[in-house]
Amino acid sequence: MGFNIAIDGPAGAGKSTIAKKVAKRLGYIYVDTGAMYRAMALFLLKEGVDPKNSEAVNEKCKEADITIRYENGEQVVYLNGENVNAFLRTEQVGNMASVTSANPNVRKKLVELQQKLAADADVVMDGRDIGTCVLPDAEVKVYLTASSKVRAQRRYDELTAKGEKCDIDVIEKDIIERDYQDMTREISPLKQAEDAVLVDSSDMTIEEVAETIMKMTVTGGI
Ligand code: C5P
Repeated sequence: MGFNIAIDGPAGAGKSTIAKKVAKRLGYIYVDTGAMYRAMALFLLKEGVDPKNSEAVNEKCKEADITIRYENGEQVVYLNGENVNAFLRTEQVGNMASVTSANPNVRKKLVELQQKLAADADVVMDGRDIGTCVLPDAEVKVYLTASSKVRAQRRYDELTAKGEKCDIDVIEKDIIERDYQDMTREISPLKQAEDAVLVDSSDMTIEEVAETIMKMTVTGGI
């Protein structure tokens, strides 16, 4: 069993930026579980499956073969043999993922994959249910959050930097809706694990958050 660091929290809290940074410093593998749910969502979108039709999602998800490889230190997601990294980070795929990730078969399949990855290596894994379900025995658990305003602003900056046109109010509305879906679903809803440390990054820099987590890895939690 490797040393496991679990980072959970709502959309846009900075989980992946922080997790990547901490993993690099420690020489651990960064596991982005959101990318796996996004790959599944991409598959279901391509297949034209109605996300509200849980029977159809339950059946169709069995046809998606999702695997992870590490190439030049980056996580690459393969969907039925094809590298799909370039297609995962759109709002459309994110919103679809938030709906289809509530499905039991989708979760079962991806949680197994995540647990396998963590069993063999030292990992920093981010997601929604890592501290509560995927890695309940993780040595360090963080619940990373920030106000919806700050999270929308960060997402807006990220998209505009890429040259994409977007509306900050629509982004904030999407974020709030996605959080609601993730927090109220029946299976593995987003919530802070009892033994997780709450970090509110609204007024913190990336470096400050990374430092806070680095300190926990030395003290083993607090
Ligand atoms: O973190 P990211 O925005 O990439 O995640 C996309 C969606 O995947 C989330 O809104 C959530 O519904 C789902 N997800 C999940 N469990 C995880 C990671 C992501 O349900 N561990």
